[in-house]
Amino acid sequence: MKKKVVLLGATGSIGSSTLRVLRAHSERLQLVGVAAQSNDRELAAICHEFAVPHAVLNDDASYRRARQGSGFPGTTQLSSGTQALEALAALPEADIVLIAVVGVAGLRPALAAIEAGKDIALANKELLVLGGAHVVKAAQRKGVRLLPTDSEHNAIFQCLEGHPHGQVDKLILTASGGQFRDSPVDQLATVTPEMATQHPNWSMGPKITVDSATMANKGLELIEAHWLFNLEPERLEVVIHPQSIVHSFVQFIDGSILAQLSPPSMTFAIQHSLLYPERATPVEATVDFTNPFSLDFKAPDYARYPCLQLAYDALRAGGSAPAVFNAANEVAVARFLAKELAYLEIPEVIRHCLSTTHNDPSPSLEQLLEIDAETRAQAQALKF
Ligand code: NAD
Ligand code: MG
Repeated sequence: MKKKVVLLGATGSIGSSTLRVLRAHSERLQLVGVAAQSNDRELAAICHEFAVPHAVLNDDASYRRARQGSGFPGTTQLSSGTQALEALAALPEADIVLIAVVGVAGLRPALAAIEAGKDIALANKELLVLGGAHVVKAAQRKGVRLLPTDSEHNAIFQCLEGHPHGQVDKLILTASGGQFRDSPVDQLATVTPEMATQHPNWSMGPKITVDSATMANKGLELIEAHWLFNLEPERLEVVIHPQSIVHSFVQFIDGSILAQLSPPSMTFAIQHSLLYPERATPVEATVDFTNPFSLDFKAPDYARYPCLQLAYDALRAGGSAPAVFNAANEVAVARFLAKELAYLEIPEVIRHCLSTTHNDPSPSLEQLLEIDAETRAQAQALKF
């Protein structure tokens, strides 16, 4: 029996790595639904190649363009909008939904998939940062699996297997340190969007590449780890590991540490989460021990990475603070990429939004979405 997969965010960086895994394992995995924001040509090409029966283009203008020129196969049912995205996430024939859209747009589709009893492979971290309490509760209630596709969380998930929660001392997330890890701190003021969107190890979408440079990404991942693995901030640590080969560690109460290693490509984590609990041949070369190489580790310097400190602060504060952190960061990064803000103003936007927003200790999902929208407006209007 093939596992039937819905892929939300099919034209992005995670999306294209997922297609490589699907091509290599077509005898085990079948693509039954795809979604993208606006890239109609690429989505149509995917529907042709994989004979996908259901597709959603979220953007209405792109959808209308696709309907007119229709490069889509006649056998693909194409729809548009957020409700269509939620319906796709709950597609009756699907077994697993890989959520690889960017930002909080992934939240409602994730909840729709959970309500429909689908397992989730989760690449999108922002939805857990915003709505972690609600998503985890819903998944537990419905008895569905939240399988981490983010490489660090996938590594931790693999290391934790078979070990009771009470034996875990801490989780240690590895971080590449981004492209400015060795630049003098006083040169960070001159970083441009062109510089910040080039990553030394990983090929990823622009937003997460900037987040990697500021380590806001690791901050979001700490919050993601808190929700996925039910551990308090004191038991979540970050270590800089420039080679991105160890994807994270689990330290147990007896001092033993387990790690997961694979080359810096998302195909390993994607394949693991889609095929789980099965394993199969990888689509890329594995770690090669025939040529010498080193693995380095060092503690992060918070003066270089103020966004990481702000993420810890938000995680410790709890309530609505992580949602504020996420929304402020997303807008600040977009404004930096649009050349409206300087690189060092990204943490300043987050700091300002966190310190001026009342922290609601247990917000409802609707309240969180309101706080998200308000924070975005605030971060957008902020002038320096
Ligand atoms: P990306 O920008 O390359 O791709 C995003 C995809 O989502 C595109 O297909 C886009 O069309 C689609 N999309 C965006 N908004 C949408 C909407 N509202 N409705 C439907 N489709 C929409 O991003 P990415 O780098 O692939 O990252 C995707 C997610 O995975 C992010 O949450 C990111 O944090 C996470 N992630 C990425 C990587 C990586 O290596 N790229 C690693 C770990 C986690
Ligand atoms: Mg990651």
